[in-house]
Formats: sequence, structure tokens, C-alpha cells
Amino acid sequence: QVPVLAIDGPTASGKGTVASRVATRLGWHFLDSGSIYRLVSMQALTEGVPFDDAERLVVIARQLNVAFEGEEVRLHGEDVKEALRREEVGNGASKLAAIPAVREALLTRQKDFRQAPGLVADGRDMGTVVFPDAFLKIFLTASPEARAERRHKQLIDKGLSANLERLVLDLRERDARDMNRAVAPLKPSADAVLLDTTSMTADQAVEFVLDRLRE
Ligand code: C5P
Repeated sequence: QVPVLAIDGPTASGKGTVASRVATRLGWHFLDSGSIYRLVSMQALTEGVPFDDAERLVVIARQLNVAFEGEEVRLHGEDVKEALRREEVGNGASKLAAIPAVREALLTRQKDFRQAPGLVADGRDMGTVVFPDAFLKIFLTASPEARAERRHKQLIDKGLSANLERLVLDLRERDARDMNRAVAPLKPSADAVLLDTTSMTADQAVEFVLDRLRE
């Protein structure tokens, strides 16, 4: 079996940055599973499909024509990498991710990323549902305030507008939804290593993960 390193955690915990850097260091493939939920959200926004319309969302999930090419994410041929990061898209993703049939429809798409020499998978349920046999599972956390500040900085750096108080509220709301949903709730796998990055830099977190791998 191709080895999988699962990195899960709440929104803006830094797992995306850490996971992609670890993947680069190892020369392994990288799955940003959140982007797949975001792509469904984006397509739903385009088609005007409500985030609780399970039937139509499942159709979108199945038919999603995406290609991950290096840094680019193409949806039906168009590069949507930047647009995917919009808060509106992330909030929609969090709503439709609570629908079991939508998660089911996206399962194979995620498992297909498991290719030699290895995969670093970033998400909420990588260690619990998608790759339960991952040889190492890391669960990243950070305080809501630290996470809101990171998200704020990311948005400002991209020239997008952002309000810190609003972000803290959105983040808490999204955490509650991700943790309380009936299927694949956000929680560390029993065999996950917990890593609190509140007062760590991304590089320190990367080193922590690589140290764990060497053990
Ligand atoms: O990680 P990111 O913020 O891009 O994910 C967007 C949303 O997609 C999350 O709030 C979560 O509800 C959902 N998601 C999920 N399972 C994953 C990845 C993301 O439910 N493996």
C-alpha cells in the first residue's frame, strides 16, 4: 500500500500550509480535500443551488470536472484557485459537507490521490474516514483567535477585505458545524498525534511532523 500521512484539523489551523510543505519536502503527492468541498460549493453558487439541496449537490459532486495541475485548480477548464479561498465559498462548503450523500459522492475522488511514492492528505476526516490506515495521523489545532488572525493576514495579503471580529465569529460557527455534524464530525482519530500550533511558526510545525516521520 502507498503510505499516507493524514493531517487533520479545524479551519485556519495552518494544516494546509504545513501539509503542502511536508509534501514538498518528501516529494509526495498532496491532497487538499477542503478544496474539493469548496469546488462543489463554488459550482452550487454558480448554478444557484441551495446548500441544503442534497439531490442536486450530489449531482454536482459526481459531475465535478476538476484538474489539479501543480499549483492550479481547474474547474471545467477555468483556474479557480484564488476564487476558491473566498469566505462565501468556504462557508458554503462547510454547509454542504454536513450532507452524508455529498461526502459519499466525494470519497473515491479523494482516495484516487493515493499514488506512489506517498500522499500527504489534508482535511477534517483524512485519518478517521478517508484513509483510516494512514501510517501517521496528525491533528493540528490553534486557538480561535490565532486562527482568525492567520486567516485575516492571508486575506489582506491577497488584497481582499477582511474584518477580524467577523472572522472570529465565522470561524467559531464553522467549527461548531464541523464538530457537531452527524457524519464524519471533526475530531482527532484515536491514534492521532495532537499538535497545538498557537505559538508555533509554520516551519516549526513542519519540523515537528518530519521528526515524527523519522521516528
Ligand atoms: O479546509 P477548508 O476550509 O478548505 O474546508 C472547507 C470546508 O469543507 C470545511 O469547513 C469542512 O466543513 C469541509 N471539509 C470536510 N472534510 C474535509 C475537508 C473539508 O468536511 N476532509
